[in-house]
Amino acid sequence: MGDPKGFLKVSRVEEDDRSVEERLHDWREVTEHAPEEAVRAQASRCMECGIPFCHQGCPLGNLIPEWNDLVYRGKHAEATRRLHATNNFPEVTGRVCPAPCEASCVLNIREEPVTIKTVERTIADLAFADGSALTPHPASRRSGRRVAVVGSGPAGLAAAQQLARAGHDVTLFERDDRIGGLLRYGIPDFKMEKGIIDRRMEQMRAEGVVFHAGVDVGEAIGGDRLRREFDAMVLAMGARAPRDLPIPGRELPGVHFAMEFLVQQNRRVAGDAVNAKTAILATGKRVVVIGGGDTGSDCVGTSLRQGAASVTQLELMPKPSLVRVPANPWPEWPLVLRTSSSQEEGCERDWAVSTRAFRGEGGRLVGIEAARVVFEGGKMQSVPGSDVSLPTELVLLAMGFVGPERRGLVEQLGTELDARGNVRTDPTGATSVPGVFAAGDTSRGQSLVVWAIADGRRVAAGVDAWLRQVPMARAANG
Ligand SMILES: Cc1cc2nc3c(=O)[nH]c(=O)nc-3n(C[C@H](O)[C@H](O)[C@H](O)COP(=O)(O)OP(=O)(O)OC[C@H]3O[C@@H](n4cnc5c(N)ncnc54)[C@H](O)[C@@H]3O)c2cc1C
Ligand code: SF4
Repeated sequence: MGDPKGFLKVSRVEEDDRSVEERLHDWREVTEHAPEEAVRAQASRCMECGIPFCHQGCPLGNLIPEWNDLVYRGKHAEATRRLHATNNFPEVTGRVCPAPCEASCVLNIREEPVTIKTVERTIADLAFADGSALTPHPASRRSGRRVAVVGSGPAGLAAAQQLARAGHDVTLFERDDRIGGLLRYGIPDFKMEKGIIDRRMEQMRAEGVVFHAGVDVGEAIGGDRLRREFDAMVLAMGARAPRDLPIPGRELPGVHFAMEFLVQQNRRVAGDAVNAKTAILATGKRVVVIGGGDTGSDCVGTSLRQGAASVTQLELMPKPSLVRVPANPWPEWPLVLRTSSSQEEGCERDWAVSTRAFRGEGGRLVGIEAARVVFEGGKMQSVPGSDVSLPTELVLLAMGFVGPERRGLVEQLGTELDARGNVRTDPTGATSVPGVFAAGDTSRGQSLVVWAIADGRRVAAGVDAWLRQVPMARAANG
């Protein structure tokens, strides 16, 4: 343990964000990264607990007290090794993870957890700066087995990297024109700039992963063909089927799914031209975002950067409490009101509001009709006489996702689904079809990057164990 009294001497200090005025004029990351010395001081606060609850909170089981101590001692090379022992992409989680580790940190009993996420990001960025994070780790022996990974989000990338390092020949297929899944086309650049994905891809190429972008598996290549040509498959296609709001006026131009909007902007930032006829822009419009989660918040920040006249975000659920309630004690995830950097930038938020209709005039969207609701005995009821009417020219639907797309590959392979419509797997990630595995949102439903990486690693271990059992002559379709 670095400094036994560190947590008594040093207070928690979070990284600063750039001023709202400045950041609204660009698409660069909002957070201003703290200098190394300040991060060392923060790392000194870790108590190296006998029972480190942070481990329990982290889906990856990150060795948090170990690398906190190493950072405090200035042993960056060793900290980098310990960090990468459990996490393929700490430079990503260090930017976009909601940090369940910090919620369960013992110091969070006093609401002053160690700034674990900042320490993680700093180790990763320093390792990229000195090149050590980019060192390829190719397998010393090749297995001769071929594995197809479908989908290049964090689950597919983590599975591919682990399998390549285990000596298998990995081909990763991605429908989009670029690799990265929601890291590339969902999460805006102001949360995570995309060069971060590109530099990891270089390392993975050097480890033997072959990337094929622009290939829709199920369309361009049938699922059966992949099963014949590869010894195992990992489905990591995400859970992109969006939840719709089928109410009067849904067909009006101006009502769009959040992802239609976000993907276009991420493409613009990447330098792509977006067809003017299909472009969705918030510029000069009164925007209503329906849905209070991460996706909705990303729509808020994107709309404000595009120059929206106003942004209002509506949430169906009641406003969360400002502080933990006794029924939600530490180390549980605190169910409290959170304000994202995008929401801070100038958005009206309203809770317990249910949208009933989109109003149009002359075929154009001009407003929404809504009503306030209460939840009694778990049931939602409208409050009589509480009608809310909002003028708007652009509505973005960010109400979550209902699971993986079933048409195409999932149907072709005939993998069983669970009660929520996700691909059913056993604890190793194996689906009902021999040799076909599933990871990330495809099997879990829309979740978090950290869970996708954790699943990718777990499923890669499952695939590796399965390939070792199956004789060489028996391919996935045997
Ligand atoms: C807007 C938005 C913001 C988010 N922000 C955060 C955040 O800040 N922090 C966080 O932790 N989580 C966040 N999430 C959730 C997180 O991004 C996902 O949980 C995570 O990306 C899931 O990873 P995945 O690999 O399972 O799937 P995805 O990232 O969805 O990747 C799946 C990939 O598979 C490809 N694919 C699908 N079908 C095929 C096919 N037939 N052939 C070839 N390729 C195919 C898709 O094109 C896609 O690229 C956010 C989600 C959204 C939508
Ligand atoms: S719970 Fe917090 S203080 Fe304890 S070991 Fe983990 S990071 Fe350090």
